[in-house]
Amino acid sequence: MDTKQLIALADKYGAHNYKPLDVVIERGEGVWVFDTDGKKYLDCLSAYSALNQGHVHPKILTTFQEQAKKLTLTSRAFRNDQLPLLYKELCDLTGYEMAIVMNSGAEAVETALKIARKWGYHVKGIEKHKAEIIVADGNFHGRTISIISFSTEPLYRDAFGPFTPGFKISKYGDLSSIKELINENTAAIMLEPIQGEAGVVIPPEGYLKSVSKMCKNNNILFIADEIQTGLGRTGKLFGCDHENVKPDIVIIGKALSGGFYPVSAVLSSELILGLFVPGEHGSTFGGNPLGAAVARTALKVIVDENMIENAAVLGEYFSEQLAEIPSTKIKEIRARGLLIGVELNNSDGNARKYCEILQEKGILAKETHETTIRFAPPLIIDKETIDWALDRIRVTLR
Ligand SMILES: *Cc1c(COP(=O)(O)O)cnc(C)c1O
Repeated sequence: MDTKQLIALADKYGAHNYKPLDVVIERGEGVWVFDTDGKKYLDCLSAYSALNQGHVHPKILTTFQEQAKKLTLTSRAFRNDQLPLLYKELCDLTGYEMAIVMNSGAEAVETALKIARKWGYHVKGIEKHKAEIIVADGNFHGRTISIISFSTEPLYRDAFGPFTPGFKISKYGDLSSIKELINENTAAIMLEPIQGEAGVVIPPEGYLKSVSKMCKNNNILFIADEIQTGLGRTGKLFGCDHENVKPDIVIIGKALSGGFYPVSAVLSSELILGLFVPGEHGSTFGGNPLGAAVARTALKVIVDENMIENAAVLGEYFSEQLAEIPSTKIKEIRARGLLIGVELNNSDGNARKYCEILQEKGILAKETHETTIRFAPPLIIDKETIDWALDRIRVTLR
């Protein structure tokens, strides 16, 4: 079946909840993907950071195949031999005491919100059903009803009420707007260290540190959603590491499985995660042996193959070179590690148009909102490939 026919099938039989570029990908290898006509592209999106390790990483593939032959699912009614090792390795790597494993990012966010509420009632002593959680405007934490209840993006939210109560929305990057929302019912503050979906929005220096301090002073949990920023993307293990902040709860997903299989997790202390009792929370596939085995290797290769350092060094190079493009189209470059947003001038708004031109030239990037192009290639990218990309980006944006 040819490309046009495949696109027609998807449009006829599939819900139109995405507006993808018209490229039909058939194969991936490292930083490259190949379409149904055999054309090669550099993947500069990395499935929103789920492919930090690159496409079909050979070591993760081996684990995936070997585990799939042995055991894929037990449900949590029984134990399996992979999950305990994933727990241990996650905690050793991140310095947290306990973990809970789920599948999608949104599920892990829901898990963090639930445990923060329980902590609010059982430890902080908030009156039953009164707990509040403060979030930030421009946030993206997933697509469930509760999560979109505190989205500030009308498209994500407006058609889907009634909404879950108990959330307050502060202004991202603005400490005083959080302060105004804190009261005796505040259980937690949940933030992205950098807002990826909002267009790589980096808060003012010191913001995360101050939020963390404010949380400690007011007996409030600090939850960091590191689903996109975590596991090396920004040039450190976690986005919060740039300010030496250790949140009470960290949420990870995406790259946790290197693109093979959905695995997400919530990391915290025993005091907090230890509050869950049997039956209160779970998921049929959460913590399954295939996902756990894949996640173990996905974490191992991030460390063994120096992907975090590579993201730091090459991210800096990539963004510096982008900043030197003499272009009236570019308003601003926002970058940390290999999470890079190129903000276009409003008059030249249409970021989508440039993504389509880049596609023709062999680079797959995705606009966020109207005016931002995000460049977030796999963390295994090398300088030569970045130079190859820069040649094409320069002629597109000049
Ligand atoms: C992608 C993402 C999510 C949601 O993850 P899913 O696996 O798509 O449910 C949540 N938070 C952030 C910051 C994300 O980037």
